[in-house]
Amino acid sequence: MTDDNVAAPYRNTNPTPVIRGLRTARELLYRAGGVSGINPVVSRTAWRDNRLLILCYHGISIADEHEWSELYVPQEHLERRVKWLRANQFNILPLDEAIHAMYARRLPPRAVTLTFDDGSCDFALKAMPVLAAYRVPATVYLTTYHVTSQLPIFGPMASYLLWKAPGRTYTVPGTSLRRTAPPRDDREARSRLQLEMADRARLTGLSAQAKHSWLVTLAAELDLDFDALLAKRLFHLMSPAELASLDRDLVDLQLHTHRHTNPDDAVQFRREIDDNRGAMQDYVRDKPLRHFCYPSGVYTADQVRWLADAGVVSATTCNPGLAGPGHSPWILPRLVDTQDVTDAKFAAWAHGIGHIIRRFIGGKVG
Ligand SMILES: [Zn+2]
Repeated sequence: MTDDNVAAPYRNTNPTPVIRGLRTARELLYRAGGVSGINPVVSRTAWRDNRLLILCYHGISIADEHEWSELYVPQEHLERRVKWLRANQFNILPLDEAIHAMYARRLPPRAVTLTFDDGSCDFALKAMPVLAAYRVPATVYLTTYHVTSQLPIFGPMASYLLWKAPGRTYTVPGTSLRRTAPPRDDREARSRLQLEMADRARLTGLSAQAKHSWLVTLAAELDLDFDALLAKRLFHLMSPAELASLDRDLVDLQLHTHRHTNPDDAVQFRREIDDNRGAMQDYVRDKPLRHFCYPSGVYTADQVRWLADAGVVSATTCNPGLAGPGHSPWILPRLVDTQDVTDAKFAAWAHGIGHIIRRFIGGKVG
């Protein structure tokens, strides 16, 4: 992975029949938890009191990104979640405070913390108004390479352009290969074509500016108005001005690597942390940068060790689960709240029974 793949998939979007069956069974139980009255009972147990629900958001739509990818949710989705958490007396804590309290076994009841991956500009435009209106703290795991360049992230932008022009043909940049943009509902084909382009760019060793030129050419071939799409800033990271304007009483910026990559080499991995820290110095003032999120939730045992050496005290994954004092602080689970997460599933996870259902039905599968 490189900076090309900020929107790399968090979840299998092409499930087998077995995985689909497991998901259906779990969904039925999530709903049963809501109507049977079990949910509030579980949320008042000592077990839940010692656990923390870490929510993960990827993107809040500026335009129609939620129609393109389930990882993007409309602003209304985020607001509905926050209102529900407030109405049901959940304690929404800043990440640093929540982690500290969890390992000290003094979390308040029904503890929740919100995290946003990448730091794309939709956070400032769409998430921040909701967080400010309800005074909800959040952590942004910021990847920094494209903060100053203000170029769109190559992979997601390429995929979005293909989604905008189903059935149209184009030339794979840097080759003479002809391809047809897949139907809108064929996520797998689109993701395959996106990877083909990202691989081609990597193999060719193109600069960020050269990859941007590829996007311009691709849009022209697909007969799309690239300048109009670019102006929407759908796949830009927050600008330095946007980062500087965030309400620091609510928003904590933390580490996500500089180039959105987690190298297998210790020196390169450390460089990603150091570069990320260095690029954030202007925005964080005196707040320590010691929490980390693995790009796309992917990690190895070596990287866990290297994080500890780099002074990182916690790291989150996309493994589904409630965090507890028995977890390694460098392998903390989260619930990725996408459009596929129903209200029943969200409630079950917030109360705690979702974690238990997941453990007994399917485990890490699906
Ligand atoms: Zn990310």
